[in-house]
Amino acid sequence: MLDLLAVTDYPDWRKKALIQSREGNLLLIPREGGHLVRIYVDLGESGDRASLQRIEVEQVLAAARRILHPYVLDVREVAWFSVYEVGQRLTDKFDDVPAGAERGRTPRVFIAGDACHTHSAKAGQGMNVSMQDAFNLAWKLAAVLRGRSEPSLLHSYSAERQAVAQDLIDFDREWSATIAQRPREAGHPEQGGLDPSDLQAAFIRSGRYTAGVATRYTRSQLTGGGEHQALAAGFPVGMRFHSAPVVRIADAKPLQLGHVHEADGRWRLYLFADETTERAGEMLRHLQTVVTPRFTPDGSDPDAIFDVRAVFQQNHWEIEVTDLPEVLHPPKGRLGLRDYEKAFSRVPGSDADIFELRGIDRARGALVIVRPDQYVAQVLALDAFGELDAFFGSILTRVA
Ligand SMILES: Cc1cc2nc3c(=O)[nH]c(=O)nc-3n(C[C@H](O)[C@H](O)[C@H](O)COP(=O)(O)OP(=O)(O)OC[C@H]3O[C@@H](n4cnc5c(N)ncnc54)[C@H](O)[C@@H]3O)c2cc1C
Repeated sequence: MLDLLAVTDYPDWRKKALIQSREGNLLLIPREGGHLVRIYVDLGESGDRASLQRIEVEQVLAAARRILHPYVLDVREVAWFSVYEVGQRLTDKFDDVPAGAERGRTPRVFIAGDACHTHSAKAGQGMNVSMQDAFNLAWKLAAVLRGRSEPSLLHSYSAERQAVAQDLIDFDREWSATIAQRPREAGHPEQGGLDPSDLQAAFIRSGRYTAGVATRYTRSQLTGGGEHQALAAGFPVGMRFHSAPVVRIADAKPLQLGHVHEADGRWRLYLFADETTERAGEMLRHLQTVVTPRFTPDGSDPDAIFDVRAVFQQNHWEIEVTDLPEVLHPPKGRLGLRDYEKAFSRVPGSDADIFELRGIDRARGALVIVRPDQYVAQVLALDAFGELDAFFGSILTRVA
């Protein structure tokens, strides 16, 4: 793996590219600043560890030049260079409770990141998945340490992230094997090898995965079954909340809904109002008078546990924030000032209508419950009061 400053006649030097040739394969990733390029050169089977340490930069550059031939690679500077051996490894648990012993013990020691999973660098996922491990663990630890959830919640960390890591290793195995194949000679399919169009297709298929948005948690205490998924088809239960544009009603400011979701350990309840707002009104009242008081400690801001946000189908100039239920403009902080930033409208007169983009049922609306780490936990109907109460009753500690 090298970071290079080079001059070349290879035309795709500033594009992410996978190059297959009879001489091997090379992954090319242009880096920041307009000149630096990272290349990953596959040197084949590694032999023993000591032989890895003897590999010189010139050897790797020679291999890169053979792969790129007939294009010329004139390297002016090697900014960074490393040789590594791909090891695909995965721990069976991310905590200290052996599989099967979860009922009698709560976890007290956790591991995350490369300590749990290692794989090739070509999936570009090591750091990304490691940070997601940490995000998954952090909000749960905070909830338990603040007395908001029972310690048994911590079991879900290993259960969720071990499955993600297994997926990553499976993906990496398949991906590494695909790109390690030599190209098929045109007109000679009998000689084997991978057709470049198949490689292109695999590259495109893997896009969502390498962008880090392919994780889907399966049904559990924290992830609903998606029985009401049709009410908001574009927010798949178990997957990352997929942002879309909205207009904030109080100041008519266009923004991305996902950007209001800060990493602060709170649950987000995104309410998408029905056309008449009748059902929305009832659900907002339930959130204000039943759900919030039940789990929010005395003396805290009303949105300390649940950050309720609503999106209406009306235009922003047709709604006054102060006419909405208080849960959408609650008094907060030392001075009891109102939070005016919880009510939104679709973007008017454009094709960027969040109700269209995310397949939300306009007649019935939907409530989308989003975990503190931004994964959709459940989609509910606006009159599913019992299901809502049961969902949080199994995760959060009641205070009233
Ligand atoms: C060549 C290469 C290229 C990569 N490219 C990408 C990429 O493009 N995208 C991507 O997402 N990921 C990439 N990764 C993977 C990414 O770097 C790792 O997945 C990520 O750094 C893992 O983070 P971590 O905190 O789990 O472990 P680390 O970053 O390894 O952190 C562990 C830390 O613990 C310290 N430590 C170890 N033992 C002790 C001890 N006994 N006491 C105190 N401290 C200790 C270590 O010094 C280290 O600082 C790449 C990795 C390599 C090697």
